[in-house]
Amino acid sequence: MSVKENLIHIKKELPEDVILVAVSKTKPNEAIIEAYEAGQRVFGENKIQEMTDKWEALPKDIKWHMIGHVQRNKVKYMAPFVSLIHGVDSLKLLKEIEKQAKKNERTISCLLQMHIAKEETKFGMDENEVRALLTSEEFKKMEHVKVIGLMGMATFTEDEKQIKEEFSSLKALFDSIKSNHNTTDNLDLKTLSMGMSGDYKLAIECGSNMVRIGSSIFGARNYN
Ligand SMILES: *Cc1c(COP(=O)(O)O)cnc(C)c1O
Repeated sequence: MSVKENLIHIKKELPEDVILVAVSKTKPNEAIIEAYEAGQRVFGENKIQEMTDKWEALPKDIKWHMIGHVQRNKVKYMAPFVSLIHGVDSLKLLKEIEKQAKKNERTISCLLQMHIAKEETKFGMDENEVRALLTSEEFKKMEHVKVIGLMGMATFTEDEKQIKEEFSSLKALFDSIKSNHNTTDNLDLKTLSMGMSGDYKLAIECGSNMVRIGSSIFGARNYN
């Protein structure tokens, strides 16, 4: 099936309140244009250089989401245009985003990445770290970032029960943090980013309202 057909097929299955991030990492601009022409406007990339090159070349009404691990020294390259940063996993990184957003006279929306998988290799904070970040004086003073939700990745496994447990624990944490922290100018928890090609249906059952789908739209990635 073509990119357009894949996209239409997936869109049909998604509830209306679930935002689709089309993950275009490693894919050429032509593939993105095909999705764009089918109506898609939100795209996800995991490398800042690649995302910046694509932003420069492609239509300016595309919303670019950074879904990968972010190195602090590279935040400045995406600060002028990035729409949402999914992988914020420390106060230090958030401080750098605040600094670069201010320079660009913008407010940058962010998700806090939570570690829910049993794999050590995945990034993210635990519950105590998130609470410490949200209650810190430094965060309270920030005026150029807005934390709008949480993001998490389940363990890479065939075991649906385990995936479900991990997604459900992230949803429970989301609800708990939401009820324990007042909405402020820089904190408004409404987005729960979980689910990829292999597990987005489970993620939606567990309460996700933002899914990041790559290979089911664009085909398998070739890293060579
Ligand atoms: C690559 C990637 C995805 C998309 O993965 P697919 O399995 O191709 O849908 C989603 N989220 C993150 C963080 C990724 O790096």
